[in-house]
Amino acid sequence: MKDTLRLGVDLGGTKTEAVVLRVTGDEPEILAKHRVPTERDRGYDHVVQTVASAIDAVTAAAGLAEPPPIGVGMPGAITRAGLIKNSNTTCLNGRPFRADLTARVGRPIAFDNDANCFALAEAVFGAGRGAEVVFGVIMGTGVGGGVVVRGRAWSGLQGIAGEWGHIPLEPRDGEPCYCGRRGCVETMLSGPSIERAHERRTGERRALRELAPDDPTLEAAVEIFGRALAIVIDVLDPSIVVLGGGVSNVAAFTERGPAAVARWVFNDELQTPIVKHAIGDSAGVLGAAMLTRV
Ligand SMILES: [Zn+2]
Repeated sequence: MKDTLRLGVDLGGTKTEAVVLRVTGDEPEILAKHRVPTERDRGYDHVVQTVASAIDAVTAAAGLAEPPPIGVGMPGAITRAGLIKNSNTTCLNGRPFRADLTARVGRPIAFDNDANCFALAEAVFGAGRGAEVVFGVIMGTGVGGGVVVRGRAWSGLQGIAGEWGHIPLEPRDGEPCYCGRRGCVETMLSGPSIERAHERRTGERRALRELAPDDPTLEAAVEIFGRALAIVIDVLDPSIVVLGGGVSNVAAFTERGPAAVARWVFNDELQTPIVKHAIGDSAGVLGAAMLTRV
């Protein structure tokens, strides 16, 4: 079976990870891995340098003279003018990161946001393997999502495909969102927002993982999850939904989430499988590597 080498970089807020991958059919094998702190507080030039050095280091660690095709996944999107927007590594926002990194590395680089990379990794190697359309959900400190169609990440015309975290569910009375609106899904389903809702209801500050499975705060969050994800399914009707991120590890979402979605979806039944991710922390970097598929 034909095998190919690829290089993936996951540029995160705190750490940057690079791998060289050998892919045989649908099986990934990590040949080398390099992980360094992103140190985004040291500014834009430092982050460009960190990513470029990680590419060099992992190439050398894999025993290669030249890097194989490179894909980079990171939070945020790239505007039509080639500038980064909506990244939580804020020193990148408004800067031509892709062009600067490409110039520094001296070869073409495929880019996409981290949610699309997660969805792509799960679609190619994980829980969505073989599915035609995969919607990958990230629920953690924020809420995001990515769309993969027939093994390719679908970013959309404006790079916002899959951004269900900013569907305004409660635009009048909801909590303010960093995007400038109120009551976005992210302000109701991110880990910190569920913990805040619990504190408002009970006066007690508790970590999400400490909540009992039948805690009313969690029940309410699962119901919101159902309303929000039903909107996505009404529009996209994906073959499968794969859940990732720390909040998705709370069993209530996989156990009672599908029934909550079924109550709101525009169909008399919900056929869509809603499953937990199959790949752990390395989904971002595996997906980034697979952006280089042509
Ligand atoms: Zn928002």
